[in-house]
Amino acid sequence: MPIYEYHCEKCGEDFECLIIGNDTPACTGCSSKKVTRLMSCCGFVSKAAGGQTVSASAGSSCSGCSASSCAGCSH
Ligand SMILES: [Zn+2]
Repeated sequence: MPIYEYHCEKCGEDFECLIIGNDTPACTGCSSKKVTRLMSCCGFVSKAAGGQTVSASAGSSCSGCSASSCAGCSH
């Protein structure tokens, strides 16, 4: 079962919660349901790494081919 990391919009608390189905957990600090799900573990890392890759290569080439723009490929 997946454990997701959440950030409470109301009090700023970060907490982890084991999620079953599409339940939205309540904040462990203030019981607010206004929480944002963070991508934990590898999902979070690959997103950060992808962001760096994109910004480093922006304007020069796309990640899927050597073209100078993505107009000619499916990316
Ligand atoms: Zn809270």
